[in-house]
Order: sequence, then C-alpha cells, then structure tokens
Amino acid sequence: MSTSTIVRIITSLKCSGETVIITRVVNSVKRVLAKASNSQPGVAAVTVPRAEHGISRDDISENALKVLYRLNKAGYQAFLVGGCVRDLMLGLKPKDFDVVTDATPEQIKEQFNNCRLIGRRFRLAHIIFGREVIEVATFRGHHPDEEGSSAPHSRRNEHGHLTRDNVFGSIEEDAERRDFTFNAMYYNVVDFSVTDFANGRTAIKKREVELIGDPQERYREDPVRMLRAIRFAAKLNMTISERTAVPIREMAGLLTNIPPARLFEETLKLFISGNGVETFKQLHAHGLIEPLFPQLAGFLQDDSCREMQFIYRVLENTDDRVNREQRVTPAFLYAALLWYPLEEYAQKMMTESGLTAHDAYNIAMSEVMRKQTQRIMIPKRFSTVVRDIWMLQQRLPRRFGRRAFQTLAHPKFRAGYDFLLLRGEVEGGDLLELADWWTQFQDAHPGQQKKMLNNLRNNEGSGTRKPRRRRKPRKDNDA
Ligand code: ATP
Ligand code: MG
Repeated sequence: MSTSTIVRIITSLKCSGETVIITRVVNSVKRVLAKASNSQPGVAAVTVPRAEHGISRDDISENALKVLYRLNKAGYQAFLVGGCVRDLMLGLKPKDFDVVTDATPEQIKEQFNNCRLIGRRFRLAHIIFGREVIEVATFRGHHPDEEGSSAPHSRRNEHGHLTRDNVFGSIEEDAERRDFTFNAMYYNVVDFSVTDFANGRTAIKKREVELIGDPQERYREDPVRMLRAIRFAAKLNMTISERTAVPIREMAGLLTNIPPARLFEETLKLFISGNGVETFKQLHAHGLIEPLFPQLAGFLQDDSCREMQFIYRVLENTDDRVNREQRVTPAFLYAALLWYPLEEYAQKMMTESGLTAHDAYNIAMSEVMRKQTQRIMIPKRFSTVVRDIWMLQQRLPRRFGRRAFQTLAHPKFRAGYDFLLLRGEVEGGDLLELADWWTQFQDAHPGQQKKMLNNLRNNEGSGTRKPRRRRKPRKDNDA
C-alpha cells in the first residue's frame, strides 16, 4: 500500500470523526511516513533548548504567537521560521514573522476567520490582524524529479525553474527546500526550542551566506536565489561563502527567464531596504546588473565614473530616508537607474534622425521604459512618475515668463527638483548652478522671485537663454 493511500484512508476517518485527537493521529502517522520516504539527505537537525539560543517570547509578535497557539491547539505542528528566527538569533528586529505548519491551506483557513488564501506558485495563508499580516505556509515537499512531470502541484518550465511549488511534505523536506542555511531554523513555542536543520547557527557565527544543497542546482531551480544571496550579504553584513558565490556570475543570465512582475518585487527588496548602496555594489561585482538593467550595465565602467557616482548618491539618499523611516518611491530610483541610458538614447535620436530635442526626448523616454519593462515590470503608477521626473529635467532649465511658476506648481516638482539636485552634485557646473537657483527660488517670497527672474533675463551666458521663437517655414521656394 502506498504512503498516499494510507494517508487518504486515515484522513477519511478524520472526516467522519472530526476530533482533534484524530487530527493528531493523522499528523503523527504522516510525519512517520514522510520521514520514512524522505530519501534526500543533506539536513541534520539539531534542537537547541531555550537556555541556549537567547530568543525570548517578548521579542515575538503577539499575533504570531496567537497563530502558533491556535494551530497547536487544533492538533497541528506550527513553527516560526525563516527571516524572523534568523534575525532574532542575530539580535535584530525581524521585519515580519512567518509561520510554517503541517496544516494544509484549507485546514489553516478553517482555524481563522481573518484568513485569506493567496498565491499560485506558492499557496499560502495570510492571517490578517489590522496592519500586521502573519504569513502561514504548509511544509513544502520535494518535487517529482522528471522534468515536465504532469503532477498537478508541481511544475517546471523549460529552463528547469519551478513555476509551481505546492507539493506538501514533512518539516525535514521543508527545511531542505529553503534557500540558505540560516533560513532553515524553526522556533517551537510548545517548548521554546529552536531546531536548526542545516547548521544555520554556524553560518551566523561565521557571518556567512551559505546555500543549502548544490548551488548550481538551487540557482537553476530558482535564479532569484542569486539576488537573495546578495540581499542577505548586504543586509546582514555577511560574506557569501565561496561555493555559494562562484556560480553566480556564470548563471546570472538565468534571471532573464524570471517573470518581470516577480523581479519588480525583488528589486524593491534589494534597493528599498536601507542597504541599497552595498547591495548595488555587490550586484555589480557578481555580474547581476546586466540581466536586471541591460541598458545601464554598459555605463558602469568603474567606481569613480559619473554614472556609478550618480547611482551611489541616489541610493545613499534612499538608504538615509529608509533608515529614518521616511517615504521613498521606487519611481525615483528607476528614474535614476535609467537616466544615463535615456540621455544617450535621446542624443542619438536627435543626431541620427534629425528630430527636435523635445520629440527625441519623448521617444527616448518611451523606448528606454519599454526595454526595461521587458525585464522588470514597473507598475504604471510608478512608471508615470518616472516620466514626470524625466520630463521635469527638461523643464527645469526653462524658467522665463510663467514657466518657472508652472514648473513649481507641477505635482511632482519636489521629486524632479531632488533629482536635479543629485545630478548637480555629481556633475557640477551649470547643473549645480541651476539646482541652486531652484533651491532659492522655491523658498523666496514673490518679490524676490520676480527679481530672480529679471536677473536671469539680464544675465546672459547663464545657460538660460531666452527661448527662440520658431520661425514659420517660408512658403516661397528658395531653391
Ligand atoms: P526578510 O527578513 O528580508 O523578510 P526572509 O528570509 O524572511 O528575509 P522572505 O522572502 O520573507 O525572506 O522568505 C521567508 C523564508 O522563505 C526564507 O527565510 C526562506 O527560508 C524561504 N524562502 C523565500 N524565498 C525562497 C526561495 N526563493 N527559495 C527557497 N526558500 C525561500
Ligand atoms: Mg520574511
């Protein structure tokens, strides 16, 4: 009799009885069977008692604790896992608390009124407590090995990536399916112990990002893990172990097969986390800028080049804001990452096709954005702001008549001005002068503003010439 047949028979018993005791029996049998069929080695669990790991319940979100207790009470196993356990071990404040359980998404839903099931690639439950969401996942299992397997819960695409990952399994299998060794530690609220399946504590001690399993295979399965390796190294101030780092450069191209919407989410985590500068440096060092931002990669000659300096300035600024808990918009970042490709493209359009600067710039904005969104999907609410910031770079130098006031009233003036300021800081010269002019103008009272505009008009050579009127084309043929 197969494992699944036994589980099905016992599960049907549960349907007629509906008691917690039967649920417990079902789950214990499942666990024993899963252990017996778990042929893949690679994890060796060590359970660390409360006295030895330093995680206190006071550091854990009350809502996460409620979820753990409720699932336990209903006869399921439930643990905190992933980033929260890792961060608590490191003495950091976790960003969120993820729970993992042997209950299926439907069984989780039965336990909570405030539960929503989400996701296709990974089916998950979100338990909603006002602004806090506790994510609850079911233990993931191994996938049938044959590519193109017709198993309905598991799917790989032609590149070997897992595009559906809803095979459920045991806690051991779940641990093996996690990415890095420090992400496979499970906190059990029943006895306050932490079970470390992949020697995550050693990685924490050595401050090393270490993949579980064979790195090439794990990156092929999910190339986003390459980005995650960089993200954790930058965020946790760790190094990437050699075996984990080496294959990245040659496998970086696999990222081009990741859906652009997923890459948008991942790039947000990369750059809007408070460690953007370090993350960007490491992405560049490992050859990961090319697959993410192919138009930008060619501009990044060395650390001191203008393009690199500009991106560092923008990311420093973003990191500062994130660390002071101020709002940041991904639009500003995308506008910056694509700024030099845009400038070059517009210039090329103008010289090659004889278009006016205005038309060339408009076409270049659309083209640069179109090419980028083939790799990373930038939602419209952000891409329109990127365009506004770019458009304002054209408008900010033109200040005559009512133009300065119209620009000042633009809803995205602040972002456009901040962008100009950073360009000025990096490029100096006229740009810096222009940025300084706007710094004064926006805070000046009306009389001063008028004076500033008059000075501008009288001050030839300031790089702000009076716009020339376009002449009407002559009707008579002068050939
Ligand atoms: P953060 O603190 O930034 O949220 P995290 O480790 O919690 O870091 P999440 O993206 O929230 O990262 O993922 C939660 C856990 O899920 C991870 O710790 C890891 O165990 C697992 N995980 C996430 N993404 C992957 C992946 N691509 N491959 C394997 N395991 C993953
Ligand atoms: Mg997390």
